[in-house]
Amino acid sequence: MRIFRDLGWFFKQEKSRYILGVALLIVVALLDIFPPYVVRLVVDGIEQGNVTPAFLLQWLSLMGAAGIAMYILRYIWRILLFGAAFRLGKQLRGDLYMHYTRMSPRFFNVRRTGDLMAHATNDVQAVRVTAAEGVLTLVDSLVLGGLVILSMAIFISWKLTLIALIPMPFMAYAISRYGNMMHERFLKAQAAFSKINDKAQENISGIRVVKAFGQEEAEKQSFDQLSQGVVEKNIAVARVDALFGPTISLIVGVSFFLAVAFGAGYVIGGEMTIGQLTQFTIYLGQLIWPMLAFGFLTNVVQRGRASNDRIRSLLNVKPDIADRKGAVQHPATGAIQFDIDQFTYPGAVRPALEAIQATVSQGGTLGLVGKTGSGKTTLFRLLLREYEATNGSVSIGGIPVEGYTLSALRAKIGYVPQDHFLFSATIRENIAFGKPNATQEEIERVTRLVQVHEDILRFKDGYDTVVGEKGVTLSGGQKQRISIARALLLDPEILILDDSLSAVDAKTEELILKALREERAGKTTLIAAHRLSGVEHADEILVLKDGTVRERGTHQQLLNNEDWYARMHHQQQLKSLIEKGGVADGNEAVARLSSTSS
Ligand code: ADP
Repeated sequence: MRIFRDLGWFFKQEKSRYILGVALLIVVALLDIFPPYVVRLVVDGIEQGNVTPAFLLQWLSLMGAAGIAMYILRYIWRILLFGAAFRLGKQLRGDLYMHYTRMSPRFFNVRRTGDLMAHATNDVQAVRVTAAEGVLTLVDSLVLGGLVILSMAIFISWKLTLIALIPMPFMAYAISRYGNMMHERFLKAQAAFSKINDKAQENISGIRVVKAFGQEEAEKQSFDQLSQGVVEKNIAVARVDALFGPTISLIVGVSFFLAVAFGAGYVIGGEMTIGQLTQFTIYLGQLIWPMLAFGFLTNVVQRGRASNDRIRSLLNVKPDIADRKGAVQHPATGAIQFDIDQFTYPGAVRPALEAIQATVSQGGTLGLVGKTGSGKTTLFRLLLREYEATNGSVSIGGIPVEGYTLSALRAKIGYVPQDHFLFSATIRENIAFGKPNATQEEIERVTRLVQVHEDILRFKDGYDTVVGEKGVTLSGGQKQRISIARALLLDPEILILDDSLSAVDAKTEELILKALREERAGKTTLIAAHRLSGVEHADEILVLKDGTVRERGTHQQLLNNEDWYARMHHQQQLKSLIEKGGVADGNEAVARLSSTSS
């Protein structure tokens, strides 16, 4: 019953509702005792032949009044207790959501999204059920059960009570056991169901790949297998479910058998009236629910406790990146200084960055190039303080990024990540994500800048086109450009483009870069790119290799260097010449290239 103590804070918070709710439950339990007593009076009256209409009217009206009172009170306590529990669910969900938003990427790297969602749904649900049904079954099993047993023992016969109650503990035990079995099997059935769901979703999204590789039959077979699993697991649930009814009937039947067999003896022996025996059997019927409730209670309490413990332990994880004491709230502006001796991701063996020194003056542009995995994104992450540089520092305007509050730091940075993400909302809402009250003119200005305005107008609903699940209606290049527009709309002091134009064709890229240069004049821009044309105009370009700076300089200096950058530049120029179709074949392209570059 520790869970009720653990949820003490909530019961205190909702004190008046719980006190009133439980008080009403007790009143209803007391009222419940009354009707069987009336039945006894009437039966005994009939047997003794002294029932008058006035007698009947009086007692039956009282019984009716009790029935109406119970009807109303039951309605009120349900609203009080269950309503309070819904508030608990809302509060826990809100706490978890807020907690998730405060967590750094590291937290999400080590936890599966499905698990985090499960905490926010299943676990919250289990705790909510404990705060509602748990309290109800606790009060009902103890108070109603206790009152009925006391009434049987005091008003009728303690001997018969003891005899008739013998089978009842078995029922509580059986219900508790079945409940646990049912829960375990139900979880397995649910897991099987979510597996088949994932499979169906994956196959539908990946249908082109499945067809292209001719894997329809194999996929169908594996789907059938999963489907069979779902059937078997659900039958297993049904098997336990089917045990409840017969078990309850059997045990209650035995109890009634004992009550009537021994009770009849007592009536014949004159120890008890027929009315009392009738009253007794009605009470026995009333005991079924409290006994069941007691069985359920153990399950509800166990599950609620396990879920509450999981939620608490999750809420107790401290965000590893939080505002430091004395962090400044004023906006992060000024030159950016990277001074990193070494940075290794938590849990990684090899450093992702080593010996990186670079300065980007306010309004300057830094270009980052290098193979995939060379550390470009990592450098941005340190600037955004998604991770913290342990050996070294990253500062803006002379203040280390840790010296700013997270909101002050991130408010001034517009970040277009490599794995851009669009919400399932309209294009307009996606662009205006950081500035929900942006006007259409403001939105169009940035979409024209990134050359996506015309594309958007070509959709039937224009800016109101809803981006499908995972943005399927848009091409990769369109998604990238919309993501850049989203960042540009905020006119950030510092703009980070992490390979944000990789899916855009060379000609459009050129137009966007030109527009960006004008737009970003006087503002700091950091660009990582695969295509070197993306960084050509940067004040300084760092060529990263395995987390270290292999070359650095301006475009011209790097060309003169005749190292990796110069080689890549030649290769990419060649490729773009061929793509533009201006040349018939590679040989001609090489000839043209050597004539232009010499
Ligand atoms: P780039 O942006 O140049 O493609 P990244 O900065 O993403 O490169 O990666 C640099 C290195 O850090 C890679 O070796 C990559 O595997 C590693 N890395 C990236 N993210 C993590 C992470 N969360 N945990 C551990 N290692 C990581």
